[in-house]
Amino acid sequence: MESPITRRSALVLTGAAAGTLAAGRPRGQADLVLHSGVVWTGDGTAQAVAVKGKRIVAVGSDRHVLECAGDRTRRVDLKGAFVGPGFRDQHTHLIQRALTGLGPEAYRPVWKPYDEDEAFEARRRTGQRHVDIHARGETPVDQCTHSPVTEKMKNDLLVMQEEVAKQGISTVVEAGLRDLGALDALFQLADEGKLKVRFLVRVAWGCMEEAARMGLRTGSGNDWVKVLGVKLYSDGWLGPRTSALRQPYNDDPYGFPRKGILFLGQERADRDVARARELGFNITTHAIGDRGVKVTLNAYEHNDVSPRDRWAVEHVQVAEDDLLERMIRRGVIASIQLSFATSDQRFAEDALGRHRLRYAYRWRDMVRAKVPMVGGSDFDIEALDPMWGLQRVVTRTEFDGTPPGGWLPDQRLDVPTALRLVTSRAAFASFEERERGTVEPGNYADLVVIKENPLTMPPERLAGATRLMTVTNGTITSEGPVRYPPVA
Ligand SMILES: [Zn+2]
Repeated sequence: MESPITRRSALVLTGAAAGTLAAGRPRGQADLVLHSGVVWTGDGTAQAVAVKGKRIVAVGSDRHVLECAGDRTRRVDLKGAFVGPGFRDQHTHLIQRALTGLGPEAYRPVWKPYDEDEAFEARRRTGQRHVDIHARGETPVDQCTHSPVTEKMKNDLLVMQEEVAKQGISTVVEAGLRDLGALDALFQLADEGKLKVRFLVRVAWGCMEEAARMGLRTGSGNDWVKVLGVKLYSDGWLGPRTSALRQPYNDDPYGFPRKGILFLGQERADRDVARARELGFNITTHAIGDRGVKVTLNAYEHNDVSPRDRWAVEHVQVAEDDLLERMIRRGVIASIQLSFATSDQRFAEDALGRHRLRYAYRWRDMVRAKVPMVGGSDFDIEALDPMWGLQRVVTRTEFDGTPPGGWLPDQRLDVPTALRLVTSRAAFASFEERERGTVEPGNYADLVVIKENPLTMPPERLAGATRLMTVTNGTITSEGPVRYPPVA
């Protein structure tokens, strides 16, 4: 795994030496120069990066980049530390959770040993909630409120963003905001110059019409707060056996419908997708089971989805080849969660049976087949920390060592691939690949500095890596050290 990277970095440095990066040399001096490190651009590596205003102005060798430094430049000797594109998380519920007034510790990852009795009960409760929502003829994203902005609301959002920035994260996507007041609050905080994290918001389906009346659509906003689109919700979850499957579940621990719950029938899915397109909202749909994914893809195809649209499906946990082929053909993005396979190993085989595991959590298959992909955490279902997700998706082993060698180990991802899912691929999924997600001159300066090198450190220690600095829109938003080693 190491040698291709080393080889590629040698190529990039040759390019820099040949002067191909000299075009990035700024007029006037840089505000910030990070040098003597390992700068992973998203493809190869360099030694240093310079930032002026909101943008990256040079990337390359120390000698080349330090030419941008003057007496007003802050120079940071990285002492061999790693610099990468600032992390992006394509699926969180950070804003929605912040509205409940959580303290800072709620956003820091804490590892708890698995407790089957507790987990069983939590899954039963979730499943019952799904059954109840379905009985009302609704989906979980149909409700919307528009609370007045208060100082407390703004303060709760600031407490949250502080912890997000500390973890090396530049950009988060809210997967289904159900209170448009929080969006008002974020726009105010952006105007007041108080934001440290970029918030890309997908409103819940139930909020879309009002958001449109407010004049919002995909792309509305600024460098700190932007509307990304809308979230629809097709089926339940695998754990409670409520995700919608083509064939019945292998077991029946809770007595719910044997093929799961489809919130979004075909007719409504077609109509909702058409309406979102009409109003100018980029679409993603929660779909975990193969029946949920199929109905979602049907709706997208009935609405002439093309790669230009960059519509996505969240989770895609059970998907046979026919479904992946349809996603590839239409450029539909699979939005996966880095921690799900290690968590769901506890029940996936019972739920699906051995034969269907071939189609489950098949991240490596998707990469090989060139399914468009993006990664996220699904905080607060899972820990936010991208380093925790990275270790789990690369090892497919939980922090307590289960199972040794990894669960469905053929589906492990290598570190560069996993990193791209939360950097450049995430920028693509949000229409920002031309100016974010990689470290190159001209791009916005969204950077994370990590003491260890994720590309070469032992994968089973990734979760404990030390964040030294986060830069977003050219501003230093956190200075470490910050690390959350899981204690098993
Ligand atoms: Zn979610």
